[in-house]
Amino acid sequence: MNASMMQQPLLISSLLTHAERHHGDQEVVSRRVEGDIHRCTYRELAQRSRRMANALASLGVRFGNRVATLAWNGYRHMELYYAVSGSGAVLHTLNPRLHPDQVVWIADHAEDQVLFFDLSFLPLVEAVAGRVSTIKTFVLMTDRSRMPASTTIPGLLCYEDLVESGADRFDWPEFDENTASSLCYTSGTTGNPKGALYSHRSTVLHTLASALPDALCWSARDVILPVVPMFHVNAWGLPYAACMVGAKLVFPGPFLDGKSLHDLFEAEGVTVSAGVPTVWQGLLAHVEANNLKFRTMRRTIIGGSACPPAMMRAFQERYDVQVLHAWGMTELSPLGTACVLKKHQLELPVEERLVLQAKQGRAVYGVDMKIVDDEGRDLPHDGKASGELLVRGPWVIRSYFKGEGGDPLVNGWFPTGDVATIDGDGFMQITDRSKDVIKSGGEWIGSIDLENIAMAHPAVAMAACIAAHHPKWDERPLLVVVKKPGSELTRHEMLQFFDGKIAKWWTPDDVVFVESIPLGATGKMQKNKLRDQFREHTLPTA
Ligand code: ADP
Repeated sequence: MNASMMQQPLLISSLLTHAERHHGDQEVVSRRVEGDIHRCTYRELAQRSRRMANALASLGVRFGNRVATLAWNGYRHMELYYAVSGSGAVLHTLNPRLHPDQVVWIADHAEDQVLFFDLSFLPLVEAVAGRVSTIKTFVLMTDRSRMPASTTIPGLLCYEDLVESGADRFDWPEFDENTASSLCYTSGTTGNPKGALYSHRSTVLHTLASALPDALCWSARDVILPVVPMFHVNAWGLPYAACMVGAKLVFPGPFLDGKSLHDLFEAEGVTVSAGVPTVWQGLLAHVEANNLKFRTMRRTIIGGSACPPAMMRAFQERYDVQVLHAWGMTELSPLGTACVLKKHQLELPVEERLVLQAKQGRAVYGVDMKIVDDEGRDLPHDGKASGELLVRGPWVIRSYFKGEGGDPLVNGWFPTGDVATIDGDGFMQITDRSKDVIKSGGEWIGSIDLENIAMAHPAVAMAACIAAHHPKWDERPLLVVVKKPGSELTRHEMLQFFDGKIAKWWTPDDVVFVESIPLGATGKMQKNKLRDQFREHTLPTA
């Protein structure tokens, strides 16, 4: 028997319409690429998005066409999120930190028609404009006064001119909720990048679930500053969630150093932020060095790679900012788990709570997860057995864009490539990515545990643990360390620091000190590069 309820497709445009209607005066503040602060309301942003939707139509953008962006976090980028997807085209957020060759490859693969870009990427776009094969229209996201006097980009258009040219009235079209809405490529540490093509339905469901109190807990009372870029899995869905709940949004533009972020947190009364661990290091160093505090910030969401417990401790104990550890991936839109403690765990002593918080957390409703052994057999959720993590759910990819790489699913589950444990309370903990795991004499050593310990040493700024070749054990852990400026630390002292904290045989065989650890386009440590760099390293135990 069919129910007698309304059939309303879940469309991204409904999020903006809701924000305009019910939170029209709520502010969206952006530090622009140009350096100044821009303020608008959801009402204005919605109106400009409609104008842009009209302008896109007049540029010839049709249903399903891909429209690319190379842009920082800002209101114009947000307008495109809605104008493009809302009118039935597909927003493709290109990662500007990639090598120009990769940008060309991805834009061609996606068959992008139009490219919108920020002023800071003018040189990059000038370098690739003649090489991309499908982009016909280039739009610089600025106003007339800042358009370059001369450029090699053919027929370069001005964003503000387009907004002005678009008629005020635009009725967001209604279509099937399974229509593609946006496209993100994985960073492709091995092989070519692959695209995850999200739908309106998957995006709206992801937004609903991520806003729940036991997930990322968004509310109209929040002032949210997404540090995670809008080109990294849609800034973890924040531009959608903020509209759904009516929160004030603060965009940092390209200014992601500790001082710029802290100034903006304080000036705009930011209550919650989100980003990968490496960006918080800069912020913490700045706050520490200048003896500052956070006046309004109470929460920060950390994910994308493991949050070292030392960082959690610093935020929580020194600055009264609660850390919410979360896990996800491009293929999951991205949210999978959030580490929100259960009631009975809140009563635990601080140290035990910190151990729990270092886990990646519980599955949010909608995401089903399990761990399996090498033969694909289910492993128990006892917090001890570790195996590959598999997931499924309405915002998990079924296949990559254009079927790249074949069918990724195993009996209907998506293999994440992460190795994890799940405890009796449902808390998942990643011990490694399967390609980073260290196999010592047939046994696995989790590099994340070792890194977390090293990062707790006061002289350590960053640490990565990689597998180094060993004649007897095949692989043994090699610790690569960046010291904090002005700090002293010897190999012996570093190794001694592991005493009593882990099983003896997990202790790294060697420590090397480096100036810096290579970071990828989304701010994560590139262990594959480190492995190449230390391929010939001879361990003292060898
Ligand atoms: P990329 O492969 O481009 O880095 P993602 O940004 O989608 O793509 O990264 C997803 C991966 O990042 C996960 O599979 C996992 O290995 C890692 N990751 C994400 N969040 C966490 C976390 N909180 N702790 C540890 N690893 C994480």
